[in-house]
Amino acid sequence: MPSPRLRVLVVASEASPFAKTGGLGDVAGALPQALHALGHDVRVLIPRYRDVKEQVTGTRPVIERVRVPIGDRLVEGQLLEAAGPGGVPFYFLAQDAYFDREALYGTADGDYLDNCERFTFFCRGTLEALIALGREGASAWRPQLIHVNDWQTGLIPVYLKTLYRDHPELGGMGTLFTIHNLAYQGVFWHYDMPMTGLGWDLFTPAGIEFYGKINFLKAGLAFADLLTTVSRTYAAEIRTPAFGNGLEGVLEDRSADLYGVINGIDYETWNPAKDPALACHYSAGQPEDKALCREALRRDLGLEADRSMLITMVTRLAGQKGLDLVLEGLPGLLEAGCQIALLGSGETPLETAWQEAAAAHPGRVAVRLGYDAELAARMYAGGDCFLMPSRYEPCGLGQLIALRYGTIPIVRRTGGLADTVEEWDARRGTGTGFIFDDFSVDALREVVGRAVAAFREPRRWETLVHNAMTQDFSWDASAREYVTLYRKVLRQYGARSPRRSR
Ligand code: ADP
Repeated sequence: MPSPRLRVLVVASEASPFAKTGGLGDVAGALPQALHALGHDVRVLIPRYRDVKEQVTGTRPVIERVRVPIGDRLVEGQLLEAAGPGGVPFYFLAQDAYFDREALYGTADGDYLDNCERFTFFCRGTLEALIALGREGASAWRPQLIHVNDWQTGLIPVYLKTLYRDHPELGGMGTLFTIHNLAYQGVFWHYDMPMTGLGWDLFTPAGIEFYGKINFLKAGLAFADLLTTVSRTYAAEIRTPAFGNGLEGVLEDRSADLYGVINGIDYETWNPAKDPALACHYSAGQPEDKALCREALRRDLGLEADRSMLITMVTRLAGQKGLDLVLEGLPGLLEAGCQIALLGSGETPLETAWQEAAAAHPGRVAVRLGYDAELAARMYAGGDCFLMPSRYEPCGLGQLIALRYGTIPIVRRTGGLADTVEEWDARRGTGTGFIFDDFSVDALREVVGRAVAAFREPRRWETLVHNAMTQDFSWDASAREYVTLYRKVLRQYGARSPRRSR
């Protein structure tokens, strides 16, 4: 007998293609499609940002008035619906004063000062919208459980276990919380507590208090039924002080409920045989034209046309990503005969330093600042190697895309990088990339030296590229793991089953 299909609402602060700043957007866009393809009724809910408003026009609200208590006020929003990619329905929670802004979370000057209020509204508004949606006659819909993601959704599990615990429609609804990056926690001063509507009895170390402040991520970790993060290695790392960002104790307490499920990538979108951003197309069976993509990229970026190994990087310019280490090690990498191309945006000092590096090494180092999906695809296709020297990396999508495009990852052994890249063994012809351990210039230089040596043996390099391109990091297997965990939530904590005491 086929197992019954599940009804799941995925709630996130961004989801591709409507709104994306990083990996969370990729995951919240692609995982629901994979779940839908497995036959489940999965829908996504995100805020209606300005970007979304511009893309989704002419739809009438499914819920005209979503009334959300914020402190002692009632703030009104609306719920809109549109078809998302792969047949997945998307809901958008609209409230223009909060979400019709230039950016999602903040500008170059810092985070928006009212992020606590914006995402309190988002969390509580999601539940109020669900109550209304469940009463909508023919189009009524209610999920069996909610899959929440990162700090912006952290209050949803808390509300379900407290204010909405005995609600006739939402009471007992289960949650699975996915940590995409533990470093971003949504920490706000305690004066914001009344705005959330939650009682001060929750403002304790066992609840949502964190060194005298409110911590949205901690709230999610403490109250969700099951927890996941995006690789097995990161799931283990975050239980240690070096990676736990102060939450290692909470995670250790909940280690029996914490799982690592590796992210996939959308193999339809990321496909070098079809990608419209590429000048030429290639595949594992016919990899020859990858060389043309490299030459086209060199021309685009003003890099010298020679036989050197081209290392590309596509990344947020943030401390996590280790770009300061690459800058420090740049002389060594150039001496080893490499060319370096970077596409990224983020912290101003890093942007400036990389621009200076490009100016100092014309023809050898190329830098493009900004967010550019098409150039990103050309960087993935045109590089010989793709460098990710991250300090920590929950999963990392860059190395998965690079593998798919036959661009050999050079990565630090941390988080998802450790779980998805296998060291190249020239003798046996196995492996998919190059891995280093120490976060140091010497280790970086050594690993790049190994890559250059392998690159100089074209026949073996072909095997390595073939190995990379024939890996399977599509979503199917990971989506099935999520289904198993959703069923576990329903079995153990689901609707109206006795709740554990906390
Ligand atoms: P994170 O989520 O920490 O930023 P990931 O590797 O998980 O890192 O995902 C980053 C995603 O964002 C990848 O799809 C990557 O290609 C994309 N990306 C990052 N920076 C840029 C940029 N400047 N232009 C285009 N795409 C980018």
